[in-house]
Amino acid sequence: MHTSTQGRMESIPADNSLRVQTSLEREDFDTPGTEVLELTPLLQTTLDVEQQIQLFAKAIRNYLNVDGVRYLNSDAAVSVLNGIEATHQATYDLKLENAPLGSLRFYREMPFAQPELKKLENLLCGLVYPLRNALSYLEALRLASHDPLTGVQNRLALQTAVEREIDLATRQATPLSLLLIDADHFKRFNDEFGHVFGDDVLRTLAQTAATTIRRSDLLFRYGGEEFVVLASHTHSEGARLLADRIREAVASITTIRGRKVSLSVSIGIAELAKGESPDALFLRADDAMYRAKTDGRNRVEVAD
Ligand code: GH3
Ligand code: MG
Ligand code: MG
Repeated sequence: MHTSTQGRMESIPADNSLRVQTSLEREDFDTPGTEVLELTPLLQTTLDVEQQIQLFAKAIRNYLNVDGVRYLNSDAAVSVLNGIEATHQATYDLKLENAPLGSLRFYREMPFAQPELKKLENLLCGLVYPLRNALSYLEALRLASHDPLTGVQNRLALQTAVEREIDLATRQATPLSLLLIDADHFKRFNDEFGHVFGDDVLRTLAQTAATTIRRSDLLFRYGGEEFVVLASHTHSEGARLLADRIREAVASITTIRGRKVSLSVSIGIAELAKGESPDALFLRADDAMYRAKTDGRNRVEVAD
């Protein structure tokens, strides 16, 4: 079988590990081997990228010895390791019709021989199409649940998340707080500097909130210039501290894209009451937020 891998030995480092950097394209291969014919249907049984890589890593061990397989795709924020990292490695950058599909690195204590690398490359042919489909599915899911302007989760995702978090908080008897953040006099930015700059302000707001909250807190764009934070395991006192941190971080922003700005947010907080519905929780946070507005803005108010 003919395989052209466009591969080149990049270096043989001091630790004697072998690194082969390859750009692998489907056209590089003639007739697929029987192993590929077995592999593809197996990988097509799932659209979950991680599961697919795990299946692939397991299946290739029927054909040759590897100690570990690492898949990395920074665009899709996926990193999967099967097995262990070892001294010798062969790395392949996967591409299909010029679209990058991430990279696969094979690890082994024993060096890879040339026929084995060819075998690996042939096996990769069985992976690229199912992997492309799984990555497209992941991207579709991401688009459905994220706001394209700010990159944070959207209102649709919020609906599902509130229900899930309320359910968890109720079952585990833990506190849950909802923060509603509304930019003050946001319309002025659009009116004075145009909508493109207004969009920059929204991105900055989202980024500021995202870097201020804890890892376990969830951030959403509710709509226009309104954002929601769901803080699990958090009473209203803790939520007030969190809200004040966000409020102060926003108020300390002095320039956006080189333009001087004066920016602030008003935040309403509601802690989940026993048996409360998602709508009722949101409405109480909304009332508190409006109180923060009428009391002078750049403030945090907690619902009773
Ligand atoms: P307040 O302090 O009372 O909240 O005043 P405000 O100006 O922030 O509130 P208002 O509801 O009057 O205005 C919100 C503005 O947000 C109006 C709308 O045009 C703008 N907006 C909503 N979505 C977007 C967006 O995606 N991009 C931009 N640039 N503006 C948006
Ligand atoms: Mg608003
Ligand atoms: Mg506003």
